[in-house]
Amino acid sequence: MKRWAMGLLGVLLVLPVLVVGGLGGRLLRHEQQSRRSLAQNAQRSQAQMMAQKLGGIAQRMESETLAELSALPAESRLERLEALPAERPLYRQAFLYEPGRGLILPSPEGALTHAEREFIQRMEPILDGRIPLEKPAGEGGGAPAASGCLPWFDQNQLHLLCWRRDAGSQVLYGVELELMSLLSEWAACFTGPPQGDFTTVLLDGEGHPVFQMGAGAEDWSVRPHAAVPLGDLFPHWQVVVSGAGMAEARGLKSLYVLLLGSLLAALVGGEALLFWQARRHYLDARRKTTFVSNVSHELKTPLTTIRMYAEMLEEGRVLEEDKRAKYLRVIGEECRRLTRLVNNVLDFSRIEQHRRTYSPTRVDVAALAGSLADQQECRCREKGLQLERDIPSAPVWVSIDRDALEQALLNLLDNALKYGGGEILVRVAQGPGEVRVEVLDRGPGVPATKREKIFEKFYRVDDSLTTTIAGSGLGLSIARQLLRDQGGDVRCLAREGGGSCFQILLRERA
Ligand code: ADP
Repeated sequence: MKRWAMGLLGVLLVLPVLVVGGLGGRLLRHEQQSRRSLAQNAQRSQAQMMAQKLGGIAQRMESETLAELSALPAESRLERLEALPAERPLYRQAFLYEPGRGLILPSPEGALTHAEREFIQRMEPILDGRIPLEKPAGEGGGAPAASGCLPWFDQNQLHLLCWRRDAGSQVLYGVELELMSLLSEWAACFTGPPQGDFTTVLLDGEGHPVFQMGAGAEDWSVRPHAAVPLGDLFPHWQVVVSGAGMAEARGLKSLYVLLLGSLLAALVGGEALLFWQARRHYLDARRKTTFVSNVSHELKTPLTTIRMYAEMLEEGRVLEEDKRAKYLRVIGEECRRLTRLVNNVLDFSRIEQHRRTYSPTRVDVAALAGSLADQQECRCREKGLQLERDIPSAPVWVSIDRDALEQALLNLLDNALKYGGGEILVRVAQGPGEVRVEVLDRGPGVPATKREKIFEKFYRVDDSLTTTIAGSGLGLSIARQLLRDQGGDVRCLAREGGGSCFQILLRERA
């Protein structure tokens, strides 16, 4: 399949997934938005509920205190006020102020405790009018109130003052509330099992959490949340609720990304595998076609020669004795070439099917190399090549399947004759524990990057020399397989002074 066709197919496969993914994304966004707004509504109502609960407690305390103040009899007011903080822990400090006489309770003239001194200091801006007790008219206050509850800050601390003013005498009295007492009542609202997966936090005027209920470890401030103010008595205090459904909305997105990602990965991976397979099949098919045409060509050439010479001899057209001998020699050589080729093909199919068996015997490599060189002598001469030998006269023994070694060596010699030029050297050398059989030629040699590739099946170097010479690309791969199967090997080296050196390595046998 052409590259662009593969690319197009890839795009066609990925495109629908992307479209479906896009639609899925939009649906998800919609779903997320609706979940988020549901969650926000739930958070808001939870926050409102909690704010109402806390506000209710505070209001109850306020109205109870004001009722208690109004019930104080005028004649024993001072004594009752003095006794109140000891009677009820909600009251921190009582006070009584008479216009003209000043502060009577706690009296600045008497022996004051530390808390009383602080209270008097706190009261100063209220008594001298800097902090108005009543809300100014027009701000929802209307007519000056006779009683009320005032939140005010002193040294960054909230204080609550419940007061009452006599309509006639203008005597001002009341109590400062103990905030801790109120907080201990509120604390009960933040205990018990958490409501759903809400995190409910009560923040004071400075934004510090006072109470928290729910997934405490998480930082609520970075999560989407709803905040409801606590009311006029507690300026800037608020109930904040986060969580509930938000995690699911986020989880939905992660799930979507994960699903789409794995779908795309699976698709792209599958496609890549498919293309890789298709390409492999395509290359295999191309190699096989080339192989068949190359083998046919290699078979055709010797057959034509044999037929031609055989016909001439048959018809008695060749009268000279030496010519007849030459033609018969050519016929013999071409037959050997055919045998080699057929053997290669047979070996190849046996090796591919793992059916090639070996019968190792004691072989004299020196004698074998010498006799194979002799056989090629004639071909060399005809091609104008000089065949040299560097073979020891003493036997060199190895243990190997003789036919397999012969086939491998013949393939190397055949290549030297096909691709070489000038001179061919057949050398047998012994190293420590090994025997080397080398075929060296003076041809163009094999580029360094191709010296391993030429041992792959069907591989032929893509150069002008190889393309003009018939071959199947099997000789070297078969030679290597036959030798490796028996513990030997063959490799290609550069020959000093130009050309190539094919070296068979065998284990020596004593
Ligand atoms: P074939 O010779 O049938 O093509 P081989 O497996 O014997 O197949 O060789 C593979 C390739 O290695 C050849 O096509 C050729 O390009 C290269 N080759 C083999 N022997 C030589 C050599 N002696 N000199 C240069 N190139 C060679």
